[in-house]
Amino acid sequence: MISPAAIQSIMKKHNISCRKSLGQNFLIDNNIIRKIIELAELTKSDLVVEIGPGLGSLTREIAHSVGKVMAIEIDRGLFKALNELLAGLENVNIILGDALKTDFDRLVEEKTGGEYGRTGKAYKLMANLPYYITSPILMHLLHNHFNISVIVVMIQLEVAERLVATPGTKAYGALSLAVQYFTKPEILFRVPRTVFYPRPGVDSAVVRLLVRKEPVAIVQDEDLLFNIIRSTFGMRRKTLLNALTRSSLGIERETCLIGLKRAGIDPGRRAETLTLGEFVSLAENIVKDNS
Ligand code: SAM
Repeated sequence: MISPAAIQSIMKKHNISCRKSLGQNFLIDNNIIRKIIELAELTKSDLVVEIGPGLGSLTREIAHSVGKVMAIEIDRGLFKALNELLAGLENVNIILGDALKTDFDRLVEEKTGGEYGRTGKAYKLMANLPYYITSPILMHLLHNHFNISVIVVMIQLEVAERLVATPGTKAYGALSLAVQYFTKPEILFRVPRTVFYPRPGVDSAVVRLLVRKEPVAIVQDEDLLFNIIRSTFGMRRKTLLNALTRSSLGIERETCLIGLKRAGIDPGRRAETLTLGEFVSLAENIVKDNS
C-alpha cells in the first residue's frame, strides 16, 4: 500500500507537491484498488488505457491483470516519478499528455501497430478521474466514438448519480442523457473520502459504463440531438417550446412547434420530463430552418 508518508517522501525526492488544480487525490487503500480490478473483469488479452496514473497505485495492479497498459499523465513531475516507480513493469507505457486532447484510437493504434484502435480491437479505459474534468473527459471519450468497450472510473458520487439518473429527478440532465445514449451506466460501489490522500471534500463512486455496440436509437443528426438536449436543459425551468425558440439553434418557433407535435410531445413540458427516446424523436422531427 502507498501510505501518505510514502507519497510525501516520493514527492520530496522528486521535488514536487500535490497539485489540487489537477485533481491530485491519490488512492491509499489497497482493498478499494483490488475491488476495482476485480469488478473490471480484466483478462490477459486486454489493453487498458489509464487516465491520470498519478503515483501508479492503480496502474501497477491493472498491469498485473492485463496484457498492456497505456497510462496518460499530464503532470511532468509525476510522469518522471512514475517512470522510476514502475520501472520493472514491462507491459506499462507511460505517456506525458493531456487526456482531453488525446485521440485515444490513434494513440493505441500507433503504440500497438494497429492491433488495437479504430480499425483494430477494442480496448478498455480505467481511471481515478480528476474531479475538475470528469464531465469533459467522459464527453470527449463518448462523442468521439473511440473504440472503447468499457469504461471503469472512479468519480465524484454526486456525478455518478447524475450518470444513472432518470427523468423527473433532480440529478437528471444533459450528462445523464449523453452517457445513457452511448453506454449502459452502472454504479458499482461507493467510496468514502477517507481512502484518498490528500482527502477530498466529497465522497466518490466507481462506475462502469458499458459502451453500446449498437446505438440505443438511430438518429440522423447526433449533433442536433445533443444541441437540443443542451439548450433545453440550459433553460430547464422554461417550457420546451420557449427553450427551443430562445436557444442558439436558430430554429423558428413554428418549426419547433411542428417538430414537437410530430414527435407527440406537449410543447408545455419541460426538458427534465423527457425520456431519451422522446429527445431522439424530437431531433428526428425538428427541421433546422436555415432559410
Ligand atoms: N490514479 C492515481 C490514483 O488513483 O492514486 C491518481 C488519481 S488523481 C485523482 C488524478 C490524476 O490525473 C493525477 O495524477 C493528475 O495529475 C492527472 N490528471 C489531471 N488532469 C489530467 C489530464 N487532463 N490528462 C491526464 N492526466 C490528468
